[in-house]
Amino acid sequence: MKTTPFAAVARGAAAAAVLLALAGCALRMHVGSQSACCRNLQAIDNAKARFAEERRLGEGAMPSARDLAPYIPGGWKSVRCAGGGTYSINAVGQFAACSIGRHNWEYRGGLHIEARLARAVQRFRTDCGAFPAENQGLQALVSDPAMPGWRGPYLTPEELLDPWGTPYRYELKRRAPRIVSAGVDKTFGSADDVVLRW
Ligand SMILES: [Zn+2]
Repeated sequence: MKTTPFAAVARGAAAAAVLLALAGCALRMHVGSQSACCRNLQAIDNAKARFAEERRLGEGAMPSARDLAPYIPGGWKSVRCAGGGTYSINAVGQFAACSIGRHNWEYRGGLHIEARLARAVQRFRTDCGAFPAENQGLQALVSDPAMPGWRGPYLTPEELLDPWGTPYRYELKRRAPRIVSAGVDKTFGSADDVVLRW
């Protein structure tokens, strides 16, 4: 089969996106609507990758539900979020999304990220005797805030960004850390925000 380099690049990106998503789904620990939604998002992105490959579409192409239906076992109607969320197909090369923030979080490997952040914050507390102050923020996990006992870095600078590239918001509520991701829309205070708890 003859392909243009551009189509080959787009296919590579789509394949990478699907692999990332598979990694996220494989790490799921919950049952119920979250896992079902994760599988649906994966089915949509798999369908997008196949549709794009057959039509030789590059990144940024916007397939419709009708375009994808033949590539989804059971058709488009079979992908329903059990939690009542609605799906955005999004462009080729981007991830499909659910309107419920937690579901996207899980799809993007969020449980794994959550565990890493929790470990980093706990190690900081063990070494320094307290959680990072609000004015120090998560930056205190990356570079030495001149605190006795600091033995970091506990995270890389990249790990201070959520899966959509927005820096996490860090708060200390009643001496307990609270980390928030702005979610797919990259805006704090909207419905798809994800609060990390542990
Ligand atoms: Zn959902």
